[in-house]
Amino acid sequence: MKLLVVEDEALLRHHLFTRLGEGGHVVQAVANAEEALYQAEQYNHDLAVIDLGLPGMSGLDLIRQLRSLGQTFPILILTARGNWQDKVEGLAAGADDYVVKPFQFEELEARLNALLRRASGFTQSTIAAGPLLLDLNRKQASLDDTPLALTAYEYRILEYLMRHHQQVVAKERLMEQLYPGDEERDPNVIEVLVGRLRRKLEGDNGFKPIDTVRGLGYLFTERCR
Ligand code: CA
Repeated sequence: MKLLVVEDEALLRHHLFTRLGEGGHVVQAVANAEEALYQAEQYNHDLAVIDLGLPGMSGLDLIRQLRSLGQTFPILILTARGNWQDKVEGLAAGADDYVVKPFQFEELEARLNALLRRASGFTQSTIAAGPLLLDLNRKQASLDDTPLALTAYEYRILEYLMRHHQQVVAKERLMEQLYPGDEERDPNVIEVLVGRLRRKLEGDNGFKPIDTVRGLGYLFTERCR
């Protein structure tokens, strides 16, 4: 998933960037609200982690601004103070959950994954579609109970398509799941990855879950639950 991290403390920002990246996410980490607004306008994010204590425009104002611009992605706030007013104001401004600093990374990750899951309408940490099962925590796909050997990029594309099952997903959207910014934006990469994914998913059982919608993108046709 593509995440936007807004944190002015360089060490913590770097830590979040690294750990969330290791967790299989594409992370854009910025130090202030102005940069965050710019990135949110340029790219499609699946979730934002926003520190409330930012220099310049505050985290609260950033959240209000994002919501007034129509951004609907889940927002997890980081609050240093731990006082209840902070959390209440953050949630009232449009945040979905909070973590109080200092926090264990595992707690932040668990809350973030729960928000992502709920945002795509799944209640469990697995997504099933016919013989295919995705374990969102372990980032592992299996077909008929046999683990599939997917690369990190193949897995990300599959997860994104399954989270948006029965919706046409544009190639540009999938590209954003692979790279944080504008670098290496070659749509052919997506075609190659989807091709490889199909070869790994499609056996002789007639399971063909990924359709190409000409000129628009890809469609995961199976119902996911
Ligand atoms: Ca701060």
